[in-house]
Formats: sequence, structure tokens, C-alpha cells
Amino acid sequence: MNDTVLDIRLSPDLLPRDGRFGSGPSKVRQDCVEALAKAAPTFLGTSHRKPGVREVVARVREGLRDMYALPDGYEVLLGLGGATLFWDAATFGLIRDRSLHFVFGEFSSKFALAAARAPHLRRPVVVESDFGDHPEFTTDATCDTYALTHSETSTGVAMAVQRPVPAGDDSPIVVVDATSAAGGLRVDPHEFDVYYFSPQKCFGSDGGLWLALCSPAALSRIESIAADPDRWQPASLSLALALDNSRQNQTYNTPALATLFLLAQQVEWICAKGGIEWAASRCDAAAAAIFGWAETTSYTTPFVADPSRRSHTVATIDFDAAIDAAAVCRVLRANGIVDVEPYRKLGRNQMRVALFPNIDTEDVEILTRAVDHVVSVLSG
Ligand SMILES: *Cc1c(COP(=O)(O)O)cnc(C)c1O
Repeated sequence: MNDTVLDIRLSPDLLPRDGRFGSGPSKVRQDCVEALAKAAPTFLGTSHRKPGVREVVARVREGLRDMYALPDGYEVLLGLGGATLFWDAATFGLIRDRSLHFVFGEFSSKFALAAARAPHLRRPVVVESDFGDHPEFTTDATCDTYALTHSETSTGVAMAVQRPVPAGDDSPIVVVDATSAAGGLRVDPHEFDVYYFSPQKCFGSDGGLWLALCSPAALSRIESIAADPDRWQPASLSLALALDNSRQNQTYNTPALATLFLLAQQVEWICAKGGIEWAASRCDAAAAAIFGWAETTSYTTPFVADPSRRSHTVATIDFDAAIDAAAVCRVLRANGIVDVEPYRKLGRNQMRVALFPNIDTEDVEILTRAVDHVVSVLSG
């Protein structure tokens, strides 16, 4: 592509009101940023052990409890380091001996790898599918933990959250990576023991934290592993310490206060609008817009063939070989429409578009028209 292509200027009717379509960090609402600026003089730069900040943590924990109508005994935990750190924390403090991982993309495979490398655990069972699909449920009586991913952000595949084994006293726990799903996809809390995520996707905050909605079975697993004298856990990765601090609306070490504030605003915004059902309906509308376009456009196909397995928070759209998707992305970027490049390691001629609740369906529709325009100019 020569540089003159980057001179393609989109007319105002082809420019979304907001050009951020990234799958994380994702669009942060300006209202939240302004509320933060307003609160800053008495909030930023104050102690996370004092009421001002702890009240914000309490708002996050209570807001998430309401949003998911968490059953009695479930608790909201949080700590530093994001979902990636949570995988390591889980290898220390959630998996007792052996885990089973449903792997269908980059993120689910990273958790499986973390468990495989942990010297104190037995080799995990890994059930894998082609990327672009997800594996079918299987069970393995030697596993005490099942690792699911609600929305595989690297491929745009969603997998329903269901217990592979009915809940019971000695049942394995079900641990779900909900990083691009939480706040945008429907889920029944009875179907999971841990639903963990980072706040920079549907929750439109910034990175650096993990949150985990934990069932009583998960809490007792955390406590019993922590009580095992033969099991070493680094303090910064200890879920028992995270539990103890979360109950006091704190984190074990110093959190990013701005991230917490933006998250609290977003959680309350979603709850005030109608909760997870409202948010999921918004994502459904955006998904209908982009997949409808991709199915009827001559040069595009949804990467995920089975419509029921397409994530409604992250859409992946393949382009015909004759069209260079990377060139399209570069032109869009030069026009302020950013982060629609595919997940780097997937290596496909593809566009990936976040459909998080912050993203207006109308902007997704404008994006599809902008792509059509760029493709027609590039095809000369
Ligand atoms: C983004 C993402 C992660 C990693 O989150 P970090 O905050 O970068 O650790 C993990 N899993 C899924 C499904 C994700 O989308």
C-alpha cells in the first residue's frame, strides 16, 4: 500500500461519533472521566485504607452483587494485576490438584499453560477445538476445577456458562474467564463458582485490577488451600489475602484509584439503565448490525460460522483474500477509527470490533459503511 491511500478522507457521515472500537482497553465514557475530574480533589491521592476510597470499592462490590443478583453466600473479590494475574493466583489458590481447560483461543490457552507449568499441580486436562469454534463439554473425574471462557476475546467465540458436573458437596468448581463478557453477556450465577474479569472491557474502565464473583464453594476452596501448610503461596497472589481485604473493601496492596472510580461509575450506570439484561440487549443490537452486514456483504464472512457461538461483545469478521484488511484498518486509523485490527496472534485477514455496552449500535452501523467506502476506494 502506498502512502497516498492514507490520504483517503472519510466524509463526516462516515465517521462514528466515537472512533474507539478496541476490545480492551476499550472506550471509556466521557461522563465517567468528567465525574472523576470532579471528584479528584478529594479522591485521587487519598489513602485506599480510608473511607473515601473504601466507599468506592463498596459501591463496586455492591453494584456487581445487584447486577448479577448473586445468590446468598456469593462474594465479590478484587485484587491487583488483571485477569492474567488471576490465572497465576488460581494455580496457587483455587486449583487443588488438577484442572480441566476448555481451550479455544489465546486467553484460554494461557490459563491452561499456567496450570501446566505449576510444579505443585498435576498436568491439566486440555480439551481443545479449532479457533473459531469452541470445544464440547466433557468431564473428567480426576479434575477438581473446570476452566471455562465465556467470551474468547482473541477469536470472538462465546461459550455458554454451564456446570459440566452438577453442583454438590464434592463437585469440581467452575472457574470462568469472563473478561470480555462480564457486563455484556447474560449468565446464571448458579452455573459458576468463580466469574472473574478485568475492568477495561465491558466495564469501560482502565486495566490493572481483577474482580471475581465467588460462590460459597469457591470461598471454601480458597480457605482450605490457604490452610494447607504444605502449600506455599506468594502473598501478592494469595486469594485468601484478597478475600480478607475485599471483605474490608480494600485491596492487599495499593490499587489505581482512577480505575476503581471509573469502574464504580460504569457499574452504577449499567444498573441504573436496567442491569445486565439491558446491557446484553445493547450488545445484541450491535451484534445484529455487524453480523447482518458481514453476512450480506460480498467480501466479508463472520469468522465464527455458528451464529449461536458468536460473541455479542467481540465480533470477528474475515475479509476475502482480494481485500487487505490491514490496509483497511490503516485507513480507518488515519481517520480516527481505531483498534479494529484482529488479535495479533490469530494472524487472519480480519477485522475485530468490540460491541461492549459503551459502544453505540449507530456507531457500529456507521463503521460498516465506512469500511464499505474504504474497500471501494482501495479496489479502485
Ligand atoms: C483481556 C483478556 C484477558 C487479559 O486481561 P488483562 O487485564 O490484560 O490481564 C484475559 N482473558 C480474556 C478473555 C480477555 O479478554
